[in-house]
Amino acid sequence: MKNNWSKKIAIKYIKKYKKLSFSKDLALRVYTTQLLGKNKELVLHGGGNTSVKTTVKDIDSKKYNVLCVKGSGWNMADIEPAGLPAVKLEPLLALKKKKYLSDEDMVSFQKRNLIDINSPNPSVETFLHAFLPFKYVDHTHADAILNVTNRPGGLNFCKKIFGNKIGIVPYVMPGFMLAKKVSEIYSKNPKINCLILMNHGIFTFADDAKDAYDLMIKYVSKAERAVKKLKSKKIKQIKKFTTRFNIHEIAPIIRGLLSENKNQKFVVNYRLNKHLKYFINGKSVRSYSSKGTATPDHVIRVKPFPLIITPKKNSSISEFKMTAKKAFKNYRKKYIRYFNINKNKVKDRKVMMDTSPRVILVQNVGMFTVGKDLIAAKIAGDLTETNAKVITSVEETSTYKFIPEKDLFDIEYWSLEQAKIKGKKKQLEGNVVVITGSTGTIGFETYKMFKSYGAEVVLLDYNLERLKEVQSKIKDLCIHCDVTNKRSVKNAFKQICEKFGGIDILVSNAGIAPVGSIGEVSDEILRKSFEVNFFSHQNCASEAVKIMKKQNINGCLLFNISKQSVNPGKNFGPYGLPKSALLSLCKQYAVDYGSYGIRSNGVNADRIKSGLMNDKMIRTRAKARSISTDDYMRGNLLLNEVKAEDVAKAFFHLATSKKTTGAVLAVDGGNIAASLR
Ligand SMILES: [Zn+2]
Repeated sequence: MKNNWSKKIAIKYIKKYKKLSFSKDLALRVYTTQLLGKNKELVLHGGGNTSVKTTVKDIDSKKYNVLCVKGSGWNMADIEPAGLPAVKLEPLLALKKKKYLSDEDMVSFQKRNLIDINSPNPSVETFLHAFLPFKYVDHTHADAILNVTNRPGGLNFCKKIFGNKIGIVPYVMPGFMLAKKVSEIYSKNPKINCLILMNHGIFTFADDAKDAYDLMIKYVSKAERAVKKLKSKKIKQIKKFTTRFNIHEIAPIIRGLLSENKNQKFVVNYRLNKHLKYFINGKSVRSYSSKGTATPDHVIRVKPFPLIITPKKNSSISEFKMTAKKAFKNYRKKYIRYFNINKNKVKDRKVMMDTSPRVILVQNVGMFTVGKDLIAAKIAGDLTETNAKVITSVEETSTYKFIPEKDLFDIEYWSLEQAKIKGKKKQLEGNVVVITGSTGTIGFETYKMFKSYGAEVVLLDYNLERLKEVQSKIKDLCIHCDVTNKRSVKNAFKQICEKFGGIDILVSNAGIAPVGSIGEVSDEILRKSFEVNFFSHQNCASEAVKIMKKQNINGCLLFNISKQSVNPGKNFGPYGLPKSALLSLCKQYAVDYGSYGIRSNGVNADRIKSGLMNDKMIRTRAKARSISTDDYMRGNLLLNEVKAEDVAKAFFHLATSKKTTGAVLAVDGGNIAASLR
């Protein structure tokens, strides 16, 4: 493993943080924590932690000895001083002799002794860091260390590899008892500079930041070399076979099967690479993938075992669906059994979490990972990739062995671990929303609205330049799509299914506003308007319902119609005619797909300042009525201008009104001539 320490950069960190009034101790702690965190073979997503023992002045002007230790919610890769809360050291050390401390007491004691009560919660391994009498303590879940510990005879193997300056700690659940165990092992052999925690990871420590980091790289490299020297043979692979479906075609089926009820929604992300293929297509994948993760804390993101599906040879989509359905049923049964067996072994009452897998390995196809949002699904994917690497590497030289199921259960159902992933549930969490014409005024306001309620939003637009500009500002998926072109629409939905698993809400919003007297307007203009203002909606809606039907977890179509659909404006026929047809289309979808739980509703908006109704157009129309532009914009019953965000709100309300379909909501400030009867 490469040692990435650079004296030059270390000095840069010291200077940078000095300007921000942080000590050299803390600056170097930030530097090496980031160095460790950026190495994916050492830690991933919130795993691992580090600390430094230093002093800080409190507002009482007294200097306190403190332990600055990684706080929960922070990743080592991008840690900042704020992610290393300072806990008073003496109170922590005062508990060294204590025989037992409950998790609740431990958390509350750590919190009580924070210098700043607004800091994040100190790590569950805080006491362990405190009890080791060194300035810098580094902890990672290095792949190579897990490789040598997660195998039969791992303990003796470690003794052979690492020499006499290390201590080996048998597996103990993180928390106060592990801290005590480590402290006991250290006091028996105070010459050590490293601790190997069986089936968990590694601690290195020194009074200098660089030394502690160097030791980490040194010991991990030793483990890497030891594994390389072992005799290895490739894992036997299943025979290749063909199937008659594509990934984007089965993703919605998987997404649907994941939901235990129609209101529970997950995001499903697909991925495949050489390493994963090797892991998934192993003949004995059912055995080695079910022995647990590589390090215990992964379990909260990926569950104790994945779901494995082996499609039949030459399988069609419907055959795959049958196979998958059965596999899901068996998985849920297995998970319930796992829960029931292990809940009886623990003292406090546990409530079973959902029984849906977080990792689905489809042999010969790839991996689908699951989460409440795209980030969670991707984290589950990253962790599984690491687990797969460790497991296959051990299997090439031995047989993978991990902690007993009960110990893994303890971590999965440990409130302190669950706290890491639980946040307040947002109303549209797990929902996938697709918006067409998304870079326009109404489209973008709608994007912001749905995003703020926790949905994953995909932005479609025909204007490449504007789309690129939007993409440079946001992380959400932006797809260049010509909604009048069926192939372009199909391609966009294909990408969406591979990345998110499917779709729940379509906001069909793209439109143009051509004008002309209906008797004189060219066929070309009229037909083009029908392409954009009618057929594009049909193109998107028909693709969306196909996916929604496959998922079978309800769905919602939302159309940006227009008051023109019921109240034609003079010389606005080229716009109004297809909009009238769109109103019918909206109702037709409600009629034809209601029994599938798919709702179809529309918004009739009027006089919204946007790309379609720009300043020039507003001036012309106001002039035609001999009124000011302000009066024109406020020309409604409420005498109030209607804005794009009002339209966005209407879309949101229709999306969340679960018992409303075939309805049109007017967002026009009140226009009795355009009101529906
Ligand atoms: Zn750990």
